[in-house]
Amino acid sequence: MKRILVKLAFGACAIALTATTASSQAAPLVTLTRLDCGTNTTPTDVAARFSDTYAWPQLMIQLTFSCYLIKHGNEYMIWDTGNPAGSTPTAPKTSLPNLLSQLSVTTAQIKYVAISHYHGDHTGQVGSFPGATLLIGKGDWDALNDPKSAAAGSAPSFAPWISGGSKVEPQAGDKDVFGDGTVVMLNMPGHTPGHHSLLVRLKEMGNVLITGDLAHFHENYDIGGVPTFNTDRAASLASIDRFKKIAANLKATVIIQHDARDIGKLPAFPAAAK
Ligand SMILES: [Zn+2]
Repeated sequence: MKRILVKLAFGACAIALTATTASSQAAPLVTLTRLDCGTNTTPTDVAARFSDTYAWPQLMIQLTFSCYLIKHGNEYMIWDTGNPAGSTPTAPKTSLPNLLSQLSVTTAQIKYVAISHYHGDHTGQVGSFPGATLLIGKGDWDALNDPKSAAAGSAPSFAPWISGGSKVEPQAGDKDVFGDGTVVMLNMPGHTPGHHSLLVRLKEMGNVLITGDLAHFHENYDIGGVPTFNTDRAASLASIDRFKKIAANLKATVIIQHDARDIGKLPAFPAAAK
């Protein structure tokens, strides 16, 4: 009897060992790198457009433009593509393809280009990745395809996908990008109809939530402030509420993408959070 029990215990251990090995093999390393995608030359008076409740009179905030590279095993994804490279005052000093080359990554290696929303400061360089599958909220994709919509100005950047030549997967809800829960586009409508935020679950740093334009700076995130130019006020508030609950439940580091005070939450380029 004793021998049988020992055998059974050994068998269970062997199974557990196999399962551990299999799961560690199945969990690819995920890393997150911030890419500079431009900056405003001077702090922004946020009362003018970023609050519809007369909040924040005379508050000046330094806004930045952030893009991110996510490496999942051997696959790459870009989150947002920032301002167009060039000579405008807010243009990034270095283009995304150039930044990627400093990491020894080519644009052809980017499997997914995921976009928080259709505004030009998030989509300026999307056209550099025509070989990537475009992941974008369905509401925003529909707007980009409507010449009369507010998104029409950004549509030319999406020509490879709008023409049908490149692959697009519009998302009506959340999107678990790699199917293992490590990188999830979160449906957070309100700023635009199909606006999304991003969850990245890292082994060492833990859970990271990147806002997109759910909020543009800490003060608005804290009080649930809504910019005057959001497409849906009620949806904006509901999204902020959901985002904060996710942040609390996952004990996540929240990165407000436009707030220059959050740049230091990730290692400085070219280093990556793991
Ligand atoms: Zn923005």
